[in-house]
Amino acid sequence: MNDAIDLRRERMVQQDLAGRDITDPQVLRAFRTVARDAFVSADLAEFAYDDRPLPIGENQTISQPYVVALMVASLRLVGDERVLEIGTGSGYAAAILACIAKDVFSVERHAVLADQARARLATLGFTNIHVLHGDGTLGWPEHAPYDAISVTAAAPEIPAPLLAQLAAGGRLVIPVGPDVYAQELIRVTRVGPDDYRQESLGGVRFVPLIGDKGWPSEAATRRDLRRR
Ligand code: SAM
Repeated sequence: MNDAIDLRRERMVQQDLAGRDITDPQVLRAFRTVARDAFVSADLAEFAYDDRPLPIGENQTISQPYVVALMVASLRLVGDERVLEIGTGSGYAAAILACIAKDVFSVERHAVLADQARARLATLGFTNIHVLHGDGTLGWPEHAPYDAISVTAAAPEIPAPLLAQLAAGGRLVIPVGPDVYAQELIRVTRVGPDDYRQESLGGVRFVPLIGDKGWPSEAATRRDLRRR
């Protein structure tokens, strides 16, 4: 273990998470446990404990630690859950979820990222994370229902298959909005078979969720950016 890295990780937890509004002890423990520097390329490792997103290839990012913590905390996990994550990316948020929940099923659209994350998580010893290469806007029906769903890319609207795959009482957190620059982080709770309660957790900015029930293509989001 590298003492300097450990110190930076502890400072991130105290300053950027606990120092803001992240109070759930299980969430803070997960961020103390998982080495974010193992989820970025070696040339970016020195920035791994800054509270900001970093590039991971394929035009994608590992999210800002505070936003990951906010999303995980909003799922109110206690430890026995089956969790679906859409947007594996580097695998970091899946690792954080897997420190708290029983099983994590994570879907990634880019085969390269899915393969890298699967290999990295296996090397790090995670046995309760399952990574699928596919379109996460359709969920992962084989393992549904899920007690919690975390979507780490921004959708124009909430994909219906994800609502359908949420267990009774389950929570879904997702950035939503018509704007590819800025969205609202929404928590949905399934309060009845056809009854869902929605709350806003504030403004965020995520890369687009691209797929059958998301944005149609990267080109479509680029066209949207050029119109500004
Ligand atoms: N959770 C990731 C981490 O900890 O590194 C960060 C995720 S990054 C902000 C968003 C990810 O969502 C990208 O890897 C992107 O390829 C993926 N994504 C976008 N649309 C998707 C879809 N329809 N299905 C699955 N993954 C998708």
